[in-house]
Amino acid sequence: MIPAAFEYVAPTSVEEALAALAEHGDDAKIIAGGQSLLPVLRMRLNAPEWVIDLGRIDSLRGVRDGGDHLVIGAMTTHHDVGRDPLVHEHALLISKAITHLADAQVRHRGTFGGALAHADPAGDLGAPALALGSTFVVQGPGGTREIPGADFFVDLFETAISDDEILTEVRVPKHDGWGASYEKFVRIAHQWPIVAVAATVRLEGDTIAEARVGLTNMGSTPLRAHAVEEALAGRPATEDAVAGAAALVADGTNPPSDLNGDADYRRHIATVMTRRAVLAAAGRG
Ligand SMILES: Cc1cc2nc3c(=O)[nH]c(=O)nc-3n(C[C@H](O)[C@H](O)[C@H](O)COP(=O)(O)OP(=O)(O)OC[C@H]3O[C@@H](n4cnc5c(N)ncnc54)[C@H](O)[C@@H]3O)c2cc1C
Repeated sequence: MIPAAFEYVAPTSVEEALAALAEHGDDAKIIAGGQSLLPVLRMRLNAPEWVIDLGRIDSLRGVRDGGDHLVIGAMTTHHDVGRDPLVHEHALLISKAITHLADAQVRHRGTFGGALAHADPAGDLGAPALALGSTFVVQGPGGTREIPGADFFVDLFETAISDDEILTEVRVPKHDGWGASYEKFVRIAHQWPIVAVAATVRLEGDTIAEARVGLTNMGSTPLRAHAVEEALAGRPATEDAVAGAAALVADGTNPPSDLNGDADYRRHIATVMTRRAVLAAAGRG
């Protein structure tokens, strides 16, 4: 289908974009890579009168070193984030997750910020961003504010970004030397996961000193598997110890039931994927 007619504006600064957002309010929608918004417009699930394109705002693009964290601009494409040497060195989990995200065409158009702002519980970036303790920076008429990862994802397709705000960057704490793995369970390659698990671990010898585990599609938002993380800390990186911790993965989750599988099936898959992800992150996969 063809989208309903809309007016189009492509500002070159965040301030101009915010002014357009303030002027058109509920009648406006931001477009980043368009990989999620365009299908929505084409199916006429949304028909904004104004579309505000962030694609010409250069300041929103790129990855830079922020000291103890990386700064990933909201308009950086999945392709550019996935190939970035800083991301590979300091936030390997994100590099790993992006290798599983969609196909090359989508990765060249879709953006890091667009995917996180879209807040699809089956999206591949929420769980790694959450597991790494990311902070989300938004800009609005009142200035800039930082939203901790734990508060960013509110519900299905809903974040803490207000209607008059734009996500400008994501700050990802460095996890130098941590192993990482993203295990995605799909029926068809390049699809959204039925369940996926993001795991990153810091080893001291053969012991898992610290672990961080995020879950995709195990609830209405990406989740942290705190029970698994606590059970792994200080344990040997062995198949038995990891399997014991992975058995706790369903704690606090509320997985959906759909044509791909019911909630119990997803709980089972999550247990298997968690064991695989943690072992692979620990170099034992
Ligand atoms: C065929 C196909 C396969 C895909 N497979 C996967 C997959 O396997 N895994 C996966 O995770 N994703 C997948 N995607 C989605 C893809 O990752 C999109 O890039 C992503 O969901 C949206 O990013 P975008 O930049 O295209 O955002 P857009 O589609 O432009 O915007 C998405 C939403 O976010 C809002 N928004 C965008 N940027 C901002 C901002 N800076 N501030 C505030 N709000 C903003 C928009 O208003 C809109 O509501 C797939 C998409 C397609 C078309």
